[in-house]
Amino acid sequence: PTFDNMGLKQDLIRGIYAYGFEKPSAIQQRAIRPIVIGRDVIAQAQSGTGKTATFAIAILQALDISVRETQVLTLSPTRELAVQIQKVVLALGDYLNVQCHSCIGGTNLGEDIRKLDFGQHVVSGTPGRVFDMIRRRTLRTRSIKILVLDEADEMLNKGFKEQIYDVYRYLPPATQVVLISATLPHEILEMTSKFMTDPVRILV
Ligand code: AMP
Repeated sequence: PTFDNMGLKQDLIRGIYAYGFEKPSAIQQRAIRPIVIGRDVIAQAQSGTGKTATFAIAILQALDISVRETQVLTLSPTRELAVQIQKVVLALGDYLNVQCHSCIGGTNLGEDIRKLDFGQHVVSGTPGRVFDMIRRRTLRTRSIKILVLDEADEMLNKGFKEQIYDVYRYLPPATQVVLISATLPHEILEMTSKFMTDPVRILV
């Protein structure tokens, strides 16, 4: 398996190789395609498997770069992870002119407002700040087509359940959901049954 025969945009493949990846990891081989074709996906995967690049590549493939509105929202349990996702999206999307902003607590609100006004294809954030931005109508949700819940079990452990549901209520009803979690406890399964339709399940 190679990145060349996965039906990806040339400028995305360029970014992947420039970043130093040679071959797709197991989760990348199995999860990128279903995400790109619009399926809801539950991936049970730990960090170290290449999970971040999996959804980063899939969302870069799915984006319409000519539309400078937020099309993808990723939620993570920590500020560090949200920033890491932003870095990976920007690096892999280096040849695509992608705009990606991290929306995290403890940073200047004015900067978030400026960046979001400018137009961001992808917003990577923590649930609290993201919900705040949505409620202020600084983060517009009408063009969002994919929601990524990264380390979903950790987000629940950190008490973000209500905020995730709050965010979800503002998204267009047809939003595709990709959920990554190391474990799948009851509360996660409850979330998948509320947010997802006929999800593809991948265990790596
Ligand atoms: P993650 O599971 O997202 O925490 O990623 C773990 C590490 O694997 C990161 O350092 C990635 O840069 C690296 N990685 C992800 N995908 C690949 C790949 N296809 N080839 C080589 N390294 C990769």
